[in-house]
Amino acid sequence: MDSRLAADLAGLPDLLTAARDYAAGVLDGLDERPAAAPPANLVPEPLPVTGVGAARALEMFRERWAPGFSGSAGPRYLGFVTGGATPAALVGDWLTGTFDQNAVTRQDSSAVDLERETVGWLRSLFGLGDGHSGTFVSGATMSNLVGLAIGREWLGARQGVSVARQGVGALGDVPVLSGAPHSSIYKALAVLGLGRDQLRTVPLLPDREAVDVAALEAALAALDGPAIVVANAGTVNTVDFDDLRAVARLKEKYQFWLHVDAAFGGFAALSPDHAHLVAGLDRADSVCVDLHKWLNVPYDAAVQFTRHRDLQLNVFQNAAAYLTPPEGDPDLFHLTPENSRRLRALTAWFTLAAYGADGHREIVERNVAAARRFGARVATLPGVRLLAPVRLNVVCFAVDGAPEVLAAVARSGEAFLTPTVHQGVPALRAAFANWRTGEADADRVVAALGEALAASRR
Ligand SMILES: *Cc1c(COP(=O)(O)O)cnc(C)c1O
Repeated sequence: MDSRLAADLAGLPDLLTAARDYAAGVLDGLDERPAAAPPANLVPEPLPVTGVGAARALEMFRERWAPGFSGSAGPRYLGFVTGGATPAALVGDWLTGTFDQNAVTRQDSSAVDLERETVGWLRSLFGLGDGHSGTFVSGATMSNLVGLAIGREWLGARQGVSVARQGVGALGDVPVLSGAPHSSIYKALAVLGLGRDQLRTVPLLPDREAVDVAALEAALAALDGPAIVVANAGTVNTVDFDDLRAVARLKEKYQFWLHVDAAFGGFAALSPDHAHLVAGLDRADSVCVDLHKWLNVPYDAAVQFTRHRDLQLNVFQNAAAYLTPPEGDPDLFHLTPENSRRLRALTAWFTLAAYGADGHREIVERNVAAARRFGARVATLPGVRLLAPVRLNVVCFAVDGAPEVLAAVARSGEAFLTPTVHQGVPALRAAFANWRTGEADADRVVAALGEALAASRR
């Protein structure tokens, strides 16, 4: 054994204590850490031939890399839709690495059963019934991809072909209809060989990002075969929701695979005041929910649900002499793009065990309250105009001189927001999804924006 490796093994408890102390300090200082850090532009060093041991590596990381890391785990990082990691989720993350399970088979571990228990908890959390099975994947993009891959197989079955066996060439053009799809849907269509150009956007309701269901029905009626419909539950700009019940009702008249991208909007189900936004989710053939956003577990974790595990098995099965056959209650390498799999469920298991549905409801409701307060206050700043009502946890607003204002806020370290374009108007978004964030944070970000705006007018 390499002498440094042997020394680290002998000194493992001290090493972990050093890492623990450092991590505790980082988390303790998160509130003061700049929300955004400009890249330090370090010159890459050559591969170490002789290593330095883990204790020195920790020092090197602290000195060289950590100062350039953002405060994205903290309360005023409002870019994209970014959660942090709850204390229990972090414990789960450490133990995921500690046990280093390959969560694929029940032959040697109950890790797969833990994942199943967690999927069951998540099903309850999002109001899904027993008809949906689920697995963990790395993020919502992957969850959308898996859902659409199963949908592709379903479309093949309507035509008497198996895309998994014969390839997408066996399938004619597949119309994919959606109102305001996330960019990852296009990516999934590219990866799946269906093609980005097959996505036909359906008109939205006036001044909304929700699909016009009558227009969707007209589009379905004009087709001469089955289709995929991607319904959106929580759009990134204005967190708008398609009427899932009305969309699902169209399945009684038209043949289509209903995929719902509920990456973060699915969390509306946790709040009695907002659960109506996702009513009908259970009717979907496949559902995407991200966990590293609003569940506040570390990257990378999402769940994909489907009512058609048989078709999922057709797509993802992985047959080899040394593996279990894709039958019965299949091992998980038969269901996901990965073969070897990190036990991603453990972080979700920990945070749900620790805080329960009630604890996570409180996070959602506190974030929504912070977004509301932020929306109401930011709208009073000169030169600011809300572009949509605050429906859930994102505030979308237009600002005079948006790029300069954005850069000034980021430089201040107080907050990080990201730009977008909504209905052709350049805009900023403030997305509230961190378990630490409250109304006081909303006020601090409004103050930082106010200062940046005032400075830009000077
Ligand atoms: C974030 C998001 C995605 C993609 O999620 P990743 O975890 O970044 O892959 C897909 N759809 C919606 C609606 C999202 O908000």
